Amino acid sequence: MKKTLITGAAGFLGSHLCDRFIAEGHHVIAMDNLITGDLKNIGHLMPLENFEFYHHDVTKFVHVPGKLDYILHFASPASPIDYLKIPIETLKVGSLGTLNLLGLAKDHDARILVASTSEVYGDPLVHPQNEEYYGNVSPIGPRGVYDEAKRFMESITMAYHRFHGLDTRIVRIFNTYGSRMRLNDGRVVPAFMGQALRGEDLTVFGDGSQTRSFTYIDDQIEGIFRLLMSDYVEPINIGNPDETTILEFAEEIIKLTGTDQKIVFKPLPKDDPLQRQPDISRAREVLEWEPKVHRSEGLKKVYQYFKSLSPEELNRQHRDFSELYKK
Ligand code: UDP
Repeated sequence: MKKTLITGAAGFLGSHLCDRFIAEGHHVIAMDNLITGDLKNIGHLMPLENFEFYHHDVTKFVHVPGKLDYILHFASPASPIDYLKIPIETLKVGSLGTLNLLGLAKDHDARILVASTSEVYGDPLVHPQNEEYYGNVSPIGPRGVYDEAKRFMESITMAYHRFHGLDTRIVRIFNTYGSRMRLNDGRVVPAFMGQALRGEDLTVFGDGSQTRSFTYIDDQIEGIFRLLMSDYVEPINIGNPDETTILEFAEEIIKLTGTDQKIVFKPLPKDDPLQRQPDISRAREVLEWEPKVHRSEGLKKVYQYFKSLSPEELNRQHRDFSELYKK
């Protein structure tokens, strides 16, 4: 039986990865320090014999006894609100955390896949973004703690590959949505869904002309799985090229949820990228992967998920973060 360590396992992507690797018959070691993750995302896996949970912070030395075949490093805060609230932790998990996990992979002779991001392209001057583009990132802006940690992550991962011959993979993840996203993390999908369900106005930042391209969770997990199983070492974009403006997106959510709430405009956060669309030629060619789930279909599913949460959960998780954005 293959043994796989997943960090950030109680988070959105991490928990879906746990499901996938369990379904593939692996023994899964799930690790999380639970700063932004939630145990309820993996509660259903806890009784399984081939599932173990380690409550551990990967910025501290990581020890896993016995053999290890695969490591997937997905521990990190992943929303602009989180970067503002916990900037040092964000920097540490992408840098020190990655260093520890590369060391662990080397010790165990394991293959490691690290979760990078479209944020390495910053506010891109090339559109759509292909993997050759070096990016346009401010090291000292509010997103710098995430973007630069992820850029360092890629750099040190390639160094371990080239210098130690470590078996490495790098995925550049574009905006992804699905069940188990934290309602209060400030990201646009849970933000709009939560607002629609609570009967609040939808907050569009700026004039809403900035664009994003949203990938449904199942497509994302499939892309990551294929990359891990491939022999491709350079970074690969995994995302859906179907691009929309945030204003159109808000209108889509209003239509889907049938809310009669309005759209209200708030200031655009600093360094918010104006456009984002993955060029997925490489994923198509190397992994024979492309997204299958259309946004209208994916949004319907994720709306069902948010609708199934109790009113207490919907309200408890709600926070107004507009103050943080002003700083
Ligand atoms: N956004 C918005 N209203 C919200 C939350 C986000 O208009 O309540 C915008 C945000 O400014 C950005 C886009 O939606 O342009 C996507 O934001 P998110 O935080 O989900 O991801 P990222 O900016 O990292 O792509």
